[in-house]
Amino acid sequence: MKILAVNCGSSSLKFKMYEMPEEKVLISGLFERIGEKMSSYTIKLDDDKYSKEIVLPDHKVAFEILVEELKKNKIIKKLDEIKGIGHRIVQGGDYFDKTVIADDDAVSKISELATLAPLHNKAAVTGINAAKEVIPGAMETVTFDTAFHQTIEPVNYMYAVPYEWYTKYKVRKYGAHGTSHKYIASRLNSLLGRTNTKLITCHIGSGASVSAIRDGICVDTSMGLTPNAGLIMGTRCGDVDTSILTYMMQKENITPKEMDNILNKKSGLLGISGVSNDSRDIEEGISKGNERCVLAQKMYVQKIIDYIAMYYFEMGGVDAIAFSAGVGENSIRTRIDIMEGLSVLGVIPDYEANNCRGEEKLVTTTESKVPCYIIPTDEEIMIARDNYNLAK
Ligand code: ADP
Repeated sequence: MKILAVNCGSSSLKFKMYEMPEEKVLISGLFERIGEKMSSYTIKLDDDKYSKEIVLPDHKVAFEILVEELKKNKIIKKLDEIKGIGHRIVQGGDYFDKTVIADDDAVSKISELATLAPLHNKAAVTGINAAKEVIPGAMETVTFDTAFHQTIEPVNYMYAVPYEWYTKYKVRKYGAHGTSHKYIASRLNSLLGRTNTKLITCHIGSGASVSAIRDGICVDTSMGLTPNAGLIMGTRCGDVDTSILTYMMQKENITPKEMDNILNKKSGLLGISGVSNDSRDIEEGISKGNERCVLAQKMYVQKIIDYIAMYYFEMGGVDAIAFSAGVGENSIRTRIDIMEGLSVLGVIPDYEANNCRGEEKLVTTTESKVPCYIIPTDEEIMIARDNYNLAK
């Protein structure tokens, strides 16, 4: 059965097509700058990758080209071979704790939740409607970044602000990257050979979050009402003293919209280092003796350690810790810095094993009290699996 996992942004469409239940990737690709004067797309097959420049006025045209490419590359002969389309949705609020069929009710709730994730949820609805028009025979499902975190208890999801903000405006922690944390936890449980586990999963890419997962159920996560909470990220500040906002808004006449932009796009590693949001550039800066890069890395790592320590206490221990996403999978140095900072828990890094990128691997020694693993994440396969399970 052929299933598409798609992720629609306001000007992009990322996709991966699977043969299910074998979970074989048949083709993948990315459409970019949709709606701009000139757009482009890239298609990736087993041993081939090519890009084209083309005008893509909207997501519907992007889906039409996608179907043409599937036919041209002999992935499908006829449209009705595409049995399912699973969409990634950023914000599911407290409506969704699992993947559901994208019926009118689900779509209207996703639209309503656009107040919490304006760019993402609007784009997702555009994508769902476009896919429906172009591939009407496929069963569309929606998989939410927030769903896995719906098991978090009020003690961990409420903020100490006026309670009416919660009842009137739904102000609470929703988290993000849930599909990734769920995937990482399931891999860790397979590696440990049991499911009654206490896990801490670090999804650290340009966006970053840590989750505490007990017996496969999420008990806490570092992102909040929005993805700008918790860890220091590429350009996002994460946790800060909220009084800084009002203080700086008065000092520099900053509007709420500008402040939102500064905290999301000009802070984090970029804000501290003044060099870059990319941890590769930070590492290069450190090797050249740039003090602000040294500070940025120390702060970045410290925050991750703080959250791991907090979740260790929240769960009363930890059976395994995982590093995932761009930094977690690839930054040899950041993993070492984190593991060395966890020596109080009896974590002993295996420096040789850690000297790798993007492999699923144990990176602590056999004497380490807590094993740490690299787990390359795979959100798309989770979306495809959920779609398949609802479609079959
Ligand atoms: P996104 O949140 O956009 O999905 P990714 O998970 O792809 O982000 O992470 C991207 C980040 O991963 C980059 O900005 C960079 O900081 C980091 N990264 C990628 N490759 C490396 C590497 N070889 N060494 C260190 N950091 C890396």
